[in-house]
Amino acid sequence: MSAITSFEVLDNRISRAGGKPTVLEALWDGDTNGWFLIVSLYTEIGTLFSKKQEVLQLGTVSFGGDIRLFTGEVPAWPEAALMKEWGQKASEKYGLTFYFPSEEPDDDCPDWTRRHLAIHCADCNKLMMKPDSPYLPKDICYPCHLKREQNDRIIKASPCDGGVTLYMTKDDSSRQISYCTHFKDFTIAPFVNDFVQGQLQESEISIVTLGREELIALKGQLETAIEVMLQAYKPPVIEARMKRFVSVYSMTYKDHSYDLMDRSNREHDQLGGLLYAHENVEVAIAGEQVYQFFFKKGITYRDDSMLRFVNYAKEGKTERKEIHERYKGMLTPAEVDETLMKLQKIGCVAVDNDEIRMTPLGQCIL
Ligand SMILES: [Zn+2]
Repeated sequence: MSAITSFEVLDNRISRAGGKPTVLEALWDGDTNGWFLIVSLYTEIGTLFSKKQEVLQLGTVSFGGDIRLFTGEVPAWPEAALMKEWGQKASEKYGLTFYFPSEEPDDDCPDWTRRHLAIHCADCNKLMMKPDSPYLPKDICYPCHLKREQNDRIIKASPCDGGVTLYMTKDDSSRQISYCTHFKDFTIAPFVNDFVQGQLQESEISIVTLGREELIALKGQLETAIEVMLQAYKPPVIEARMKRFVSVYSMTYKDHSYDLMDRSNREHDQLGGLLYAHENVEVAIAGEQVYQFFFKKGITYRDDSMLRFVNYAKEGKTERKEIHERYKGMLTPAEVDETLMKLQKIGCVAVDNDEIRMTPLGQCIL
């Protein structure tokens, strides 16, 4: 199905459809590339006495392939906003009904002809088919179910310590180079584990720095590991049936270029990871930068949510009363102030009277 990229394209397809357009429908669907909207047109053909309804798929609306920034605060579905605008225009121009049951990805919404079988979500009022799964609540939609779970974690201040972030830093500027749910998942973890564990502290945020000396030692260890792997290196062999799924990329090591498969080859995955880690360490050493791991211990979903709100929804700066407003009905004003005090104490926000600002440290743990 071809993409609808502007209102003009949509308009053109509606006008060529034939018959009288009655309903324009936009429903979410998803595949391995992500979510997209399928746009269909219901038309009426025939005379007063022999009317027939027809459905025609007009195309898809998608920003597919984008890596979406999931911030938990800012709506990340620009196609929904576009679709709404186009749908309203089409509705005015053709006098049709624009049917767009969900503005966020959800493939449990009924199509136009099955909407009488649907119920309204108790939280957002959107039309939805009752979930089949015994593990899901029957009266709310899946996105609302996730929201309730997230709100529950904020209310209970459940621990949110997962995730370790690695930055390359010099003076005041730092660049995130990697993020793993567990420290052991970093390619370089086996080489620096003893050092890192020895430096970890019992504080909410523990920063472990690999300075120049550690980076030079790491570079040497990576080279030893790479050279062992290179002795057994075999160029890519891709079976015909896998050609659609696997591609080849090149990495250079000491003036030699090596072709590597981007999946289904474990040796290539390992070698690629080591070469990439080596490249980064070389950049850091040459630029006199250091590595910094950020560990969390004692950070809660409440802390995390508030930091995301200030950082993403408010672009790094807001007033205390805006934060109170955001958590109204969920947290008491005292709980909000207490959380802000904690975030200030551990250096994640700066509080100046009632102005709240993100600090670089706060940004580093998101
Ligand atoms: Zn809902």
